[in-house]
Amino acid sequence: MKYIFDFDDVLFHNTAQFKKHMYSCLEKAGVPHGRPEEHYKEMRGNIFLPKKYISGLLIREKIDKKAEDVYREMLSKTKNFLNIELLKTVKKLGKNNCYLITQGDKKFHQDKIKKSGVAPLFREVVIVPERKKIAIERICRKHKNEEVIFIDDRQKFFDELDLKKCPNLKTILYTGQNLESYFQYLSTT
Ligand SMILES: [Mg+2]
Repeated sequence: MKYIFDFDDVLFHNTAQFKKHMYSCLEKAGVPHGRPEEHYKEMRGNIFLPKKYISGLLIREKIDKKAEDVYREMLSKTKNFLNIELLKTVKKLGKNNCYLITQGDKKFHQDKIKKSGVAPLFREVVIVPERKKIAIERICRKHKNEEVIFIDDRQKFFDELDLKKCPNLKTILYTGQNLESYFQYLSTT
């Protein structure tokens, strides 16, 4: 059995923890309380560009600080927001069986994953700008004689799949549930 994990809000507590940390880094840099969140909501499209977001705020608030320094500070604590329980499960499943596929700005995700230190736990780390479909189909083809389990917190990545192209795929919508017992159940059925 092979496993494909998403990063944000699956292996990494992005919404609940990292985003708050990001706002607090900006407030520490002098941005008034509440503004980072407002600005985030305004500029949030499909792809979040953190450096653009930070420099936009610094300019708007007339703060003489480098966006690069705030960005670095923001990422320095990345390890604190990992989903430790789920990573324990990944370790047990073994590097050979686990893939990581994340969607977003390539540089930001590269930096985030590098800082988090999780890359060595995965057979392959794939960063896609928009859709995960092609990467998922490729992994399903590669392991066509095995079951492939795709774990993501967003239904939209399941909806875009062409299931005829990946008959060996099972999807799990992740909401923080214990997956280890579920994987055990799957491997015995
Ligand atoms: Mg996600």
